[in-house]
Amino acid sequence: MEKILQQIIDDNKKYAEYGNVATYIPELRKANKNDLGICIVDMNNNIYEAGNCDKKFTIQSVSKPITLALAIMDSGKDKIFSKVGMEPSGDPFNSIMKLETSKPSIPYNPMINAGAIMITSMIKGKNNEDKLNRIMSFFKKLSGNENLSINEEVYMSEKLTGDRNRAMAYLLKGEGVLTENVDEVLDLYFKQCSIEITVRDLARMGVNLASHGVDILTGKRLIDEEVSKIVKTFMVTCGMYDASGEYAINVGIPSKSGVGGGIMGTVPNKMGIGVYGPSLDEKGNSMAGIKVMQGISQQMNLSIF
Ligand code: GLN
Repeated sequence: MEKILQQIIDDNKKYAEYGNVATYIPELRKANKNDLGICIVDMNNNIYEAGNCDKKFTIQSVSKPITLALAIMDSGKDKIFSKVGMEPSGDPFNSIMKLETSKPSIPYNPMINAGAIMITSMIKGKNNEDKLNRIMSFFKKLSGNENLSINEEVYMSEKLTGDRNRAMAYLLKGEGVLTENVDEVLDLYFKQCSIEITVRDLARMGVNLASHGVDILTGKRLIDEEVSKIVKTFMVTCGMYDASGEYAINVGIPSKSGVGGGIMGTVPNKMGIGVYGPSLDEKGNSMAGIKVMQGISQQMNLSIF
């Protein structure tokens, strides 16, 4: 298996050339655009890795399906989906456009920034510190990694430059959709996006979704079955933003990407997949990472369709 993975990495490394690392969060510039790594964890906890699998990077938008799961378990799906829609937006992840043109003025889905900011605003807790602790402990449980922490440089870098996200949050507040303090919500959102992980952490979170929310190591339920189903469905319809349709055809694995270069894939009843390749295409998805996912899906016949 590791031979196959190594081959897929070798075959697809060249695609990094055609993309670029994210620069709108200045700290992300420091990534090495040619890094490419993969980890697969199957339902029996077999772990297979190849390429730059020890590199740490920030989770960014791959955090969105995970906080969505926590928010639905906190407040129930009726409340959550009265504030965020269930449809693909067809627009880039950081688009603000439809927030003004659609009525009611709620974000199209929880995978785009506006939707994810709303979701973060609905995480329960006494104060921001308590909310962050709840988020961190949920990510730690799902990844089986007690040592997860926030990359302070990336967090500060996004906090200093994240005015577009701030604009969205203020718009949502102005519309009465977002009810919490904007600065606090964004602080929490930027921290959530700055959690530092490896492909193994992503694969572990992915396999716990593949098992419908039951921790494959402890047998404990971490996510309600229905919630895990909702999350995976969003990963199919909106996980790769306005490239989700093409990705569903070419790869067919529920996945979520982030501008840090990560992709988390989950193949129901089979495995979790983590991929890292910080060179991004124009839609903000990992350039070589998508090719790697496509290679694995074809070689191992993993499309769910
Ligand atoms: N933190 C990033 C942002 O809000 C996440 C975006 C992404 O990974 N697509 O812009």
